[in-house]
Amino acid sequence: MLVETFIRKQLRLKTHTVTHVEETDACMLVYIDRLGKRLLRCGVCRHRCREVHDIRKQREWRDLSMRKLPLKLRYRPRRVKCPRCGVRVEDFPWAEPWARVTTALSNAVALLARELSWQGTAREYGLNWKSVATIVKRAVQYGLKHRVRPPVHCIGIDEVSRRKGQVYLTVVYDLERRVLLWVGDERTEEAVRPFFTQEMGKRRCQTLRVVCMDMWAPYANLVREHAVNAQLLFDRFHIVKHLNEAVDTARRDLWRQLSFRERTTFKGTRWLLLKNPWNLNSNQKDRLSTLVGWNTPLVRAWYLKESFQLFWSYKQPWRARQHLLKWMSSAMRSRLEPFKKFVKMLRSHLDGTLAWTKTRLSNGAVEGRNNKIKSISHRSFGFRTAENFIAAIYHCCARLPLPAEP
Ligand SMILES: [Zn+2]
Repeated sequence: MLVETFIRKQLRLKTHTVTHVEETDACMLVYIDRLGKRLLRCGVCRHRCREVHDIRKQREWRDLSMRKLPLKLRYRPRRVKCPRCGVRVEDFPWAEPWARVTTALSNAVALLARELSWQGTAREYGLNWKSVATIVKRAVQYGLKHRVRPPVHCIGIDEVSRRKGQVYLTVVYDLERRVLLWVGDERTEEAVRPFFTQEMGKRRCQTLRVVCMDMWAPYANLVREHAVNAQLLFDRFHIVKHLNEAVDTARRDLWRQLSFRERTTFKGTRWLLLKNPWNLNSNQKDRLSTLVGWNTPLVRAWYLKESFQLFWSYKQPWRARQHLLKWMSSAMRSRLEPFKKFVKMLRSHLDGTLAWTKTRLSNGAVEGRNNKIKSISHRSFGFRTAENFIAAIYHCCARLPLPAEP
């Protein structure tokens, strides 16, 4: 088989053909021409057009390499007279309009960019970083436009930091399909609004049943306003995190009041208190019981933390509620400031906290995705702009479709 025929078959050309192939030291040049009088398609609407308006100057597309040799396609595009759109450049079966690489190459690059950093992908394909950035951003644009959008019932709103501990992004997940729906710059109420107004729209918001989020988040009112049928649910993992922080603050408050000798026994108790009791070894248990013997406020904090955790296992809403109310009044009597603060927060978010018993949902289900986002930001130093980082997040976490290859 001739190399021309081979390439024509590989590219699945129907209205075009390969006239000849030229080999140079740097690459293989594949010359393409129109095949007879076969009808070309309009580049905008893909309608078949009878008339060719003119022939433009030669353009070049990079394709997948053959062995080590980069393949380049050369062709003089026609402009067709489309009955719907007027004079337009024809549709290229091998590439998206305006792309300078073929769909086969850009899909291969995009797939690798889901695994590697953009720099690594560029090195692998002999492209520069900018070309990879363009390819990924185009792939994301295409994917967002063509992705399936079934009705959404349960969403989780969370945040991730773009750089260590600063510059936050808001991410929204579909908790049932475990897929990323949306990424927003910033984490304020204003920044999250476009998710409801643009991404979801009024009609799609109606199907929302559960919205899971941190009770410290500033956008609860926004959720109530847009997702009118949804139950607000305060995320279990965030609540536990705040509870642990209360224990930690109580520990630090106490530390400040202790004498030197007391401090040595006290040292390193942080992990004893955060650990589950059945995971402690005997030495750790001894130290814990010394602390218990002191009857320090810390012990109260620890028992409070442990007894709170029972809340998650109740099956009947009224029992869970009873437990929580009892727990809150004992925490208020504990004379521990951090716990009082925690209770006040719970009290003003009681409904969304109790919703756990019925829904049994949490953002923990998608916690792995957040870790993935962190790894994306770690593996690349190129994301100086939020725009690129957001594109990379969509690309890796939103299960977007890629353009079909011919
Ligand atoms: Zn058209």
